[in-house]
Amino acid sequence: MRRKLAAGNWKMNGLGANLAELSALLAAQPDPACEMLICPPATLIHRAAAQAQGSTLRIGAQDCHAATSGAHTGDLSAEMLRDAGATHVITGHSERRADHGESDAIVRAKTEAAIAAGLTAILCLGESLGDRQAGRTLDVIRAQLAGSLPDQAGGATLVVAYEPIWAIGTGQVATLDQIGEVHAFLRAELVARYGETGNAIRLLYGGSVKHANAAEIFAVKDVDGALVGGASLTAADFAPIVAAL
Ligand code: 13P
Repeated sequence: MRRKLAAGNWKMNGLGANLAELSALLAAQPDPACEMLICPPATLIHRAAAQAQGSTLRIGAQDCHAATSGAHTGDLSAEMLRDAGATHVITGHSERRADHGESDAIVRAKTEAAIAAGLTAILCLGESLGDRQAGRTLDVIRAQLAGSLPDQAGGATLVVAYEPIWAIGTGQVATLDQIGEVHAFLRAELVARYGETGNAIRLLYGGSVKHANAAEIFAVKDVDGALVGGASLTAADFAPIVAAL
């Protein structure tokens, strides 16, 4: 049985004052059977983790470097993020692939580093609008999986998030059929790669998830939760999404 996961990605948003949203989120008394995660900017991880201590809320990071330490000015290793209180890290988000030229090989190295440091990696993938319109969606995702999945993975160490690029921040959510098709494909590919373990790896959908569409998305087969951007920034928006799980 895969535990449901509602994950929030704050992206480059959030100052100390915004940590009040975490208290508000906990005050909404989320179902402890579901896992709830917020990935604030790295500057807030330590304080957020201290604030969430003893609660059901987990704190994650949005990126890590593939190396454990060294001359990489401005970067953070997975071990540092864990030391700051993170339990999860997002790898391969399309905004990092686009803004920082991250290839599948880099994403794979980061994912391996995250798992080696004891973090749960949330590996993101998804097609562009051009890929979808050209009917290449599953080919693109197959190639992303081949290039970025770690050698060893399990239900506690890896989560895969399907985020079609054209649905991120656009308000244009993928249809339930589109989500169902890709999630079924991801499940089959993970089982082919890892055997029975592939059934333990959770699959999240991301891209314009809001309270209004969360319940129907969560009802799609092989959707184990969501990776939420804009609607994770406030407890008022995020708590109802967690409740819909
Ligand atoms: P939005 O929910 O704002 O579309 O962002 C999705 C996302 O990129 C989460 O990682």
